[in-house]
Amino acid sequence: MVKIGVLAIQGSFAEHIEVLSRINVPAIEVRTVEELNSVDGLIIPGGESTTIGKLMKYYGLDKEIIKRATLPSRSSKNERELGASALTIWGTCAGAILLAKQVAEPRPDILGLLDISITRNAYGPQIESFETTISIPKISKKKVGAVFIRAPKITRVGKGVEVLGVLKFGQYDEPVIVQYNNLLASTFHPELTNDTSVHEYFVSLTRTYAKK
Ligand code: GLN
Repeated sequence: MVKIGVLAIQGSFAEHIEVLSRINVPAIEVRTVEELNSVDGLIIPGGESTTIGKLMKYYGLDKEIIKRATLPSRSSKNERELGASALTIWGTCAGAILLAKQVAEPRPDILGLLDISITRNAYGPQIESFETTISIPKISKKKVGAVFIRAPKITRVGKGVEVLGVLKFGQYDEPVIVQYNNLLASTFHPELTNDTSVHEYFVSLTRTYAKK
């Protein structure tokens, strides 16, 4: 069985742990490099990306996360690539911002692992938060509950990044959950609904990349 860590610096980490315990998956709060190195998958929760990014760096977690999410590339000794037998990461909301390669200003300290561009607070202030359901065929036959709180918008997806679900916003289909190999990012919070399907998907993804 894989073990999941939830980055517990700030934000909705307790809610993720609670969902994981509901689906009987071992989960721990991660605040140190030692705790990080004991898990196969890591959830970076929603919250305040500036705070999470700053403290992640302060505790030396950023370098270790980047190292574990990537593998030395076969083509060059110094290059690293995402892939097999690596740490699987899911960033929700603020977590998605921290995973992104490009963030519009104001930019927090990011990991820059996932080739997407993202803009913070793109649906307006807290009062414009909303709840809806989203179709994510790869994850669930039913529509998945999604809560958007001061959510960011993914404005570009890089080559090979798979869009798993979109939000119909006016005339646009906006990507709200995307995946690249062992990296998953959602701009919404599934941990605030009763639906456990995205968590179950993340655990199965972690199993694939942990080779367990
Ligand atoms: N607005 C927050 C940020 O930019 C993200 C909000 C959230 O995680 N719910 O960090």
